[in-house]
Amino acid sequence: MFQPEILSLLDESPPLPARSRLMPMKPMNDTLPIQESLSSYFVRLARKHSCSPMTLLRNEVLAWTKIKYSREASSRFTSNYIRTMNGVSFYAKELAEALNNLTGQSELDRCSFLPLTEVLDPRGNGLLHHRPHWCSECFRDWRASGNEPYFPLIWMAAPVKFCKTHQCALSDTCPHCGQAQPFLPKHSYLDHCSHCGKWLSTSTITYLKNIDDFSLYQYNSIEEMIVNGWRCSSLLNSSSFINSIKVVAGELYNGSIYEMERELGFPKGTVSNWSKSNVSPSLPNLLSFSYSLGVSPLEFITLLENQHIHPNIVMDHRKQASKRKGLSVDEFSLVKSVLDSIISSGISEKSVQSIARDLGYTVTLLRYWFKEECQAISRLYREYKNSCRIKNEQKDIDVVKDIFKRLTDKKTKITNRILQNELSFHGVILSRPHVLAAVEEERKRRLLFQALTI
Ligand SMILES: [Zn+2]
Ligand SMILES: [Zn+2]
Repeated sequence: MFQPEILSLLDESPPLPARSRLMPMKPMNDTLPIQESLSSYFVRLARKHSCSPMTLLRNEVLAWTKIKYSREASSRFTSNYIRTMNGVSFYAKELAEALNNLTGQSELDRCSFLPLTEVLDPRGNGLLHHRPHWCSECFRDWRASGNEPYFPLIWMAAPVKFCKTHQCALSDTCPHCGQAQPFLPKHSYLDHCSHCGKWLSTSTITYLKNIDDFSLYQYNSIEEMIVNGWRCSSLLNSSSFINSIKVVAGELYNGSIYEMERELGFPKGTVSNWSKSNVSPSLPNLLSFSYSLGVSPLEFITLLENQHIHPNIVMDHRKQASKRKGLSVDEFSLVKSVLDSIISSGISEKSVQSIARDLGYTVTLLRYWFKEECQAISRLYREYKNSCRIKNEQKDIDVVKDIFKRLTDKKTKITNRILQNELSFHGVILSRPHVLAAVEEERKRRLLFQALTI
């Protein structure tokens, strides 16, 4: 006969499920490119608690952070600082962590750009829009399908100015009262104006006929950062970034980072500073840089030593260089014959850069396909420049000798002032080392001559 087990219920208390101070709430679409932003999550969380976003912030959340807040500075706080909760700032870190603790959620940092903290400028220059942007069509679709409207993180990124789904420009002012919206509105309805309360969706939408390559590239790259950034966060650090710069500079630019930044059209010192780990790039600079190399920022940062960047897809939008995708057999043999004839002549009066320009290609492409030929031409060009320098120096020395001879013949005392005037008349600069050495030599010779004739 079945004997039920006797439980010692009086001795044991049942396990208590985990509790959180605030309602546990998942971010919208947290594994998709339209992943919710942290500020949007915050506003929806406030509605779940039937309070305004500012009430939730001031009365509950700030106490869990190191953020200093005073009512006197509240307008600066909401206009300047709170928007950075979607970025890589101190505010993003503190608020994501506090909301993780308060809601029992994990990894709310993915609702911001925090997974990219180590590879982006910590000041967040060019990272976020200064005011919320939204797609009217997305708001309309979500309402029509009964989904809760929210602000995806990708709308927060400053380089993103259009909705890829609807091919239309994002809006940033209320279509009824014309006001810009705060990141934490007075109420907690994200698709309604914080000032007049009306719906932010409008029927007057600017559809984009053509989205240029670079804008689309920026959108896709940021989308990739949002979806995959946290997945490869162990590789998203400054040493991976520096390593990738060195690998590409070694492969394509003779190991010279200065040459790399010059070829890619960046101001002197920009990429070299990144490679010294004391400066991280702003998002717009990182996008321009990787675009010039024909890869996405994540592909670039996670580049391994044995991977190659193929410069036949290099598109240097800054310099509007030739945008050819590789070389046909005919083009290849034509370029090769030009380079070979320069090499066989034993002299190159032009640099590889200007030869590339004459041929209508980027120097990066030329160096990729004709590495040895380019090295040989660079050597010939250096020799040519060196011989020009020697010739020019000899001309200066001849001028000095001529001046001394003429003035000595006329028995003119050669003072520094007279010498300077004579040299500048012939366009020779006295302070240059070879000129000074020649003057010194002539003075000695003159003294010797005078000693002998006395
Ligand atoms: Zn849309
Ligand atoms: Zn309004």
